[in-house]
Order: sequence, then structure tokens, then C-alpha cells
Amino acid sequence: MNSDAIRSEYLRFFEERGHTVVQSDSLVPAGDASLLFTGAGMNQFKDMFLGVGRQPYRRAASSQKCLRTGDIENVGRTARHHTFFEMLGNFSFGDYFKKEAVAWAWEFMSGVLGIERERMSVSIFRDDEEAFDLWRNLIGMPEKRIYRFGEHDNFWPADAPTLGPNGPCGPCSEIFVDLGADVGCRKNECSPACDCGRFVEVWNLVFTQFDRRDGGVLAPLPQRNIDTGMGLERIAAVMQGKLNNFETDLLFPLVQQAAAVSGRRYGAEHENDRRMKRIADHARAVTFAMADGALPSNEGRGYVVRRLIRRAELDGAALGVNEPFLHHMVETVGKLMGGVYPEVVERAANIGAFIRSEEERFRRTLENGVDRLDAMTRRLPKGGVFPGQEAFVLYDTYGFPVELTREILAEKEVVLDEDGFRSAMETRREETRSKAAFGAIFPSGPLEAVKAKFKPTEFTGYFTDGCEEILGALVAGCGVVGELAEGEEGVAVFARSPFYAEAGGQVADTGTLSQPSGEADVVDVQKSGGVFLHRVKVRKGVLKTGEKTRLDVDTARRLAIKRNHTATHLLHRALREIIGEHVEQAGSHVSPERLRLDFTHFEALPQEVIEKVEERVNRWIISDRPVNAVDMPLEEARRSGALALFGEKYGEVVRMVDVEGTSRELCGGTHLERTGRVGPFLIQREESVSAGVRRIEALTGDNAWKAINAARKELSGVVRELKAPSGETIARVEALKTRLKELERELREARTRGGAGIPPAPERI
Ligand SMILES: [Zn+2]
Ligand SMILES: [Zn+2]
Repeated sequence: MNSDAIRSEYLRFFEERGHTVVQSDSLVPAGDASLLFTGAGMNQFKDMFLGVGRQPYRRAASSQKCLRTGDIENVGRTARHHTFFEMLGNFSFGDYFKKEAVAWAWEFMSGVLGIERERMSVSIFRDDEEAFDLWRNLIGMPEKRIYRFGEHDNFWPADAPTLGPNGPCGPCSEIFVDLGADVGCRKNECSPACDCGRFVEVWNLVFTQFDRRDGGVLAPLPQRNIDTGMGLERIAAVMQGKLNNFETDLLFPLVQQAAAVSGRRYGAEHENDRRMKRIADHARAVTFAMADGALPSNEGRGYVVRRLIRRAELDGAALGVNEPFLHHMVETVGKLMGGVYPEVVERAANIGAFIRSEEERFRRTLENGVDRLDAMTRRLPKGGVFPGQEAFVLYDTYGFPVELTREILAEKEVVLDEDGFRSAMETRREETRSKAAFGAIFPSGPLEAVKAKFKPTEFTGYFTDGCEEILGALVAGCGVVGELAEGEEGVAVFARSPFYAEAGGQVADTGTLSQPSGEADVVDVQKSGGVFLHRVKVRKGVLKTGEKTRLDVDTARRLAIKRNHTATHLLHRALREIIGEHVEQAGSHVSPERLRLDFTHFEALPQEVIEKVEERVNRWIISDRPVNAVDMPLEEARRSGALALFGEKYGEVVRMVDVEGTSRELCGGTHLERTGRVGPFLIQREESVSAGVRRIEALTGDNAWKAINAARKELSGVVRELKAPSGETIARVEALKTRLKELERELREARTRGGAGIPPAPERI
């Protein structure tokens, strides 16, 4: 069975059992800075899992794109480690529980996939008698093929009962497939507990039923959930009779391509095979990460992407490939996966161009790295010790793998201080780990309690600048409070709000709240789980929960934001028309002061092009086109040619902002009703952000007019000083410059003639 069939059969199976099939979340988690990349199917259901906010369905199934780098050193070495992989999952949010989860998993494995029952065994958590009973009596699994493991292997999160964290947790049950007695260690006592590879763990069922509290107390959870995950690459290997995931239809064409560009044969030499597998893995990972908007850079997600490209490049170089090659593999990834994930085909040209420029750049960096290593070893005697910290810097900063450092050092008969290197690595790992702590993924506290109580806030700001609502809740410091006194700060929540919460590059609205007893300034609005959190500071009197409240948006500021947002759409469209359709928005920032648009393009824009873009936008403004926003199904919006942005994930229903005859974008921001109100549009600067990404900053409305006026004033000052008739200023400046040069020459000549009374030459005129 090919992998496309496995994926679609899986989703169909669970759809038939009342699950809503949800499209994969972006690899770049929206609004979750604590997470580098999406690493599990559950991420996008976090709020439903916690019972927070809207619950449109209680059963879901998905095939999730995942990217993890924790095991990167094992990729290519083992049969089953990947950075990018797909996770099939079915989920229940307070709906069905263990019995159905077990029965359906079994039915899918043995019925739909047709895997012989005798080849399968399962593991359960040591104390989970309920799971044991289901496998033994409902399924009829022989007792000797039900393995009991401890909390390290069969509990989520691992070791949670003993080590924490507090919060939702529960036992797991895993399904293993036996690849046969001739695979792996070939020992009689081999079992799923053995890591020789004979028993493949394909499916993990997590039964979230406890709320861990201090002291390891496991209290029952009011809403019990099911969270399962089956690695598509693993099950594909089982179904296709492969011992190695890289030989499945998901990855083998990429391995073969790596073999072809290097002119080598896969299967001929162990170390080379590893390199080809790593290249295949990294080609997929970077293509998908970039399609979701993570472009190579020096920090965060972009840094991971850059490192992956560099590692693949090193493997290519070691295989004897002397020129950039990885960018060619983007097309193959598209052919393999584009049917399910159209973004890798739609963005292929840009992704390829980015990778190519990274590859070229890295090949230069590499030469520098080798030079650096050379320079440092030259000072060491034969048999000397190379500092581990230095090797780490080479690894971390130059992307220079430690194996390569070891190899080069060995040639020079110098040894690496392995302990020093390991401890530097460990320090870095600790830093990364603390950033991705569980607390951030499942935060708790008063805000969470408030969010759990409220439905997502209804945004009324598309139609109105103000309204009256009952103040639903106030949070201050570490608790829910009844009121806030003068000078105090807190967070206010309403069922409906005209305030725009920061999103999609547009800053939040500000304004005021007023009650008979007091007034407060709204200084910021953030969205969390759909609930708008208004950050307020009481200016006068007292703000009370439960009171009727007047919410007023600062309309002048909102209008300035609208101008800049509508102008951003026009600018984006003008760039695509004038420079080309490869231009894609890579980021934007819309505030009352200015707008900023980052877009994909490889070189600086010449002055004429900037002027042309500015002119086109101004013409669209002057022709005063209507701007319409309509909600429609995502599919319909796509068909009508609306532009979806790089790395954005959209719901089933989207808002399409249409500027008559020019731009169509999916956008949740606030916009003008007609383009005429943008007023003058002025590009202030165009610059580089990173390789392949340019940035334009521009002004609109009074800000543009003020900037033009300031420039005009300066110019008229110059004109006045020159006393030149209008239109002759430049000629006059030219004449002055010529005259100045003549005078300088005459002065020099006078000095060489030894003229008396001429002062000594100044440093510079
Ligand atoms: Zn074994
Ligand atoms: Zn927009």
C-alpha cells in the first residue's frame, strides 16, 4: 500500500467514525513563540484539549506535518529517525475514551491495513488494568504479547507521576509490529523492550485521564481526552516491507536523487548511504519549513532551517558534489507531497531560489571555517589537544559538524577535547530546553481560568468604533478581581469588543472604557484562544466587573492604521505587478505611524522601480476604488484568486479583502471603505532584511503629507539661499561646485608660487 493510500484510508476510517478531518496545522505554530516548530498532531487542538474556548467538534483526525530537531544526530544513522515527518492522529476531546480508541486502532491495523494479528503486540502502562482488560478481553490479545512498561516509556508526559509537571497527563498504550525473527538481534528473548529494530512501535495511544497535582497526586480529570499518533513513515515501511523508512515511497526518490547527483550508488557503502538519507530528510524538512514561512536566518526557526541546509550541503560535499544541488530537490519534494500539501508546489520557485543562495553562501563560509580550523591547529604541537569550546563555536556558529572537525584534526594528528565539547553542547541544550518548558505549552493561572469561562470574543470593530457591554471579568496580578482602582492595571474581558486585537502584523487598537464609577485607558489588546484580553489602566475612579461599560476605540488612531493597512495591500499588489509574481509577503507591520512590508526578492530595487511602484499605488488611491470585505469558504476564496500569505493558516471560513480591480487578499485586519482616504502614499526606504528578503517602509495620510512638507521646506530653504529662479536650482548648484573647484586650484597654485599672506591649507574643504 503506498503512503498516499495509507494517509487517506486513515482519515476516511476516522471520518466514518464521526471525526472531523482537520487540515494539518502550519509547521510554524501561530501565536506560540514558545515552540520552534509544530512537533505533534495535538498542538493545534491545545485549547480544545484543555476545554478552553470554542468546541466546534469533539472528535478530530489529522495528518500533521511535524518537525523536530532533538534527535538530529541520529537522522540517517538509524532506520527511523527524521527531522520532518508526518503524524497521523485521532483525537477525542471529552468524548470517547479508551475502549473506542483501542478497538478502532485494532480495527484499522488488522482490518484496513490487513496486518496479521500474530505480528502485533502492545505495551501498556504498568498499572493500567483498564487497558490490559481491553487488549486481553475485547481484542483477544494473548497475555504474553501485552507488555507492561513503567512511567518513563508509557506515560505522557514521560515520568510525569514522579517528576511532574502538574496538569493533564495519562497512561499510554503502544502498538508494535514484528518485522520477523531474522531482523535485529535475533535473540530468543527479543521483545518490544529491545531496541534492535525487530519490533517497530507504530502507534501510540495516549489516554489523558489524570490531573497531576503536587506530590505526584493523580486526580481524575473532568474532561478525559484521547490523543494518538502514528508515524506515517513507520507504517509505510511496515506496509511496504522495508526495514528502513528511507526506502519507502515517501523518501526513496529523494535518496535516489542524492545518489544520482553524486554519481554514486545507494547501498554500495554504508557511510555514503547515511549521507544520502540525511540529504533526503533535510531536503523535505527545509522545503516544508520554508513553505510555511520559516526562511533561513541567524535566529530561531530560520536558524534551524539554515543549519539543515548546511548539513545537507556538507553531506553533498563529502559525496563529491562540487556545486549547489539541494535546491533541485525541492521539485521532487513537490512531486511526492504536493498532492496533499499544495504549498510545497505553490512556493517551489521561491524556496528553490532561497536554498540556492544559502548553498552558495555556505560554500564560501565553509572555506572560511576550514581556514579558521587551520589557523588554530597551526599553533598546536602534534598530539596536542584542541579546545572543545572552539569546536563547539565552529559547530554552532559556522555550522561545521564536529565529525568534520574530528576528521581534519585527525589528519593533523591533534585530538579534540571531547569533554569540553560535550559540556558546551549540554549548556546550549539546557538553554533550548528551558525555553520549551511545559509551563509555556499548557499555561495555567487566572487568565486561563477566565479564558475557560468565556467563549471567543466577538469582534464588532469591522462595523463600529464603540459599543456598550457588561464588563465580564477583570484580572490583576495573580488573580481574578472584582474591581480595579485608580492607577491600577489589569486585563478586562468582554463578550463582544470593537477593539482590534493584535494579529496579522496589525497593531492593536487603543481607546477608553467608561463606567459611571470610573474610566480606564485601553493600552493594548491581545488575543488568546480567541478571547480578547484588553490591557487597561484606570485613569479615574473605579472599574467594576458586572457593570455596563462604554467601549470606545481611539478613532483617529484607528483611521491611521486602516490607511496603512489598505495601503499595504496596494503596495503588495503593485510589487507583484511591477517586479513579478515571485514577490510574496514575508512579513508586515502596520501601525498608525507607518507601514512595513517584507517581501521575497533577490536584489535591491532600482530607484526607477521604487518610483514606479509608488506611482502605481498613488494612482489606485486617486481613482478612489471601493474596498470590500466578505466572509467566504476558503476554497471559494482560493478559486477567486485571493492571495493567501506565506506561513498563514486559515480556517474553513475566511475574510477576503478586495480592492476593486487590484488586490485580493485573505486578511482579518481593519480597512478603509475606499482607497481615496489613504491620502498621499510615500515610500521612505527600501532595504535588505536577509538574503532574499527586502523591506519597504512607507507613510500614508497626514504622516506622508508631513514628511513631504518637511522635505519641501528644506528644499525651499536651499532655493532661498541660492537665490536661484525656480527650476534652476540644480544648475546653480552645479555652477557653484565648478566655481569652488576653480578657486581651490587657484589657491593651490598661489601657495606653490610661495605667495605671501596666504593662510596654510586647511585639512579639508
Ligand atoms: Zn532484539
Ligand atoms: Zn491585510
